[in-house]
Amino acid sequence: MQEISKNKRILIKIGSSSLVNEDYSVNEPMLVTILSEIKKLNDLGYIVCVVTSGAIAVGMHELGLKLKPKEMALKQACAAIGQAKLMEAYNKVASIYNLKLGQILLSHDDFQFRNRMIHLSNTLDSMFKNRIIPIINENDAIAVDEIKVGDNDTLAALISPMIEANLVILFSDIDGLFTKNPKVYNDAKLISVVENIDKDIIDCATDSNSLVGTGGMKTKIDAAIITTMAGADMIICNSKEIKDLSKIAKGLKVGTLFKAKKNLISKREHWMIFKANSQGYIVIDDGVKEKLGERKLSILPKGIIEVGDEFLAGSVIDIKDKNNLLIGKGITNYSSSDIALIKQLSSEEAKEKIGFLANKGVIYADDMVILKEGYYGRFVK
Ligand code: GLU
Repeated sequence: MQEISKNKRILIKIGSSSLVNEDYSVNEPMLVTILSEIKKLNDLGYIVCVVTSGAIAVGMHELGLKLKPKEMALKQACAAIGQAKLMEAYNKVASIYNLKLGQILLSHDDFQFRNRMIHLSNTLDSMFKNRIIPIINENDAIAVDEIKVGDNDTLAALISPMIEANLVILFSDIDGLFTKNPKVYNDAKLISVVENIDKDIIDCATDSNSLVGTGGMKTKIDAAIITTMAGADMIICNSKEIKDLSKIAKGLKVGTLFKAKKNLISKREHWMIFKANSQGYIVIDDGVKEKLGERKLSILPKGIIEVGDEFLAGSVIDIKDKNNLLIGKGITNYSSSDIALIKQLSSEEAKEKIGFLANKGVIYADDMVILKEGYYGRFVK
């Protein structure tokens, strides 16, 4: 069994364009570089987890396709054949270094439901203890838009708090974050350290123009928001730097480093903001809004003026003010139909109306997150 140190947990994400050749076949020398570096880290006692792209691209090679298919089912067929080939290639190289790999394929539902997340966490933990390196991808063969994470930058970021990563590195075909798009502007400058992801940083990002990958700079900035709020540093750099992975882990400066946030939110709050899709909303009155600005407090029926969409008790819902501004998210103790009946009533009246009273209010103070700190990417509008 391996002792797991808390400050040696690294998650790396490798983009499709870095893993395949021009004809979309697997770039084996790249796998040799990746796994030889992982071997070094392993020997130094680091825990390493890999998020790999490339399934669809390798599947395109297998099927002789030149362009990424638009048809969903064909894309999924590519992923099915490509994922198997990709793992075959990973395993072939891993055997040279005596490394054990384990494949995990995920979709957004695995994060949305906390019980699934706990199972996933336990599996990852057990893999680390048994020196198995997780090789993770989205389950593209079955993931359709509704249940998709969508890109592997975000997937890596969502996994980072689960493994308590202290460093996440996104290896791709770009050198880092530039002041402007370097493919368009000659005077674009690389930003080497980002202390705080503010509007200026967000404005530097443009969308993907990769032929095979999914994520662009915008998804990488979103990934940085999720990762740094979970307490890990994140680096975006060119996959040419993979040869120095073990040095980067020890502090070698490459690409753009996004510094971990110091005032962290809890894992539960992180889950509510970034992983749980809201099933509906309540609108609170100005009095409750003002108090929530100062401290968390349980939301009672009396302070609710409207309820929207249909949800069951136990769902995550949005908390909005009457101007439709999102104040926070929380887990509701009542269904939407019950809230519709008891809104604006005193607790006694509410009990009389529906025959029961949840003793911690509609949303209990400890079951909510108040969104104070500016920008949460596309996760919170
Ligand atoms: N999961 C996709 C694949 O393996 C890639 C997604 C991405 O590029 O972000 O092909």
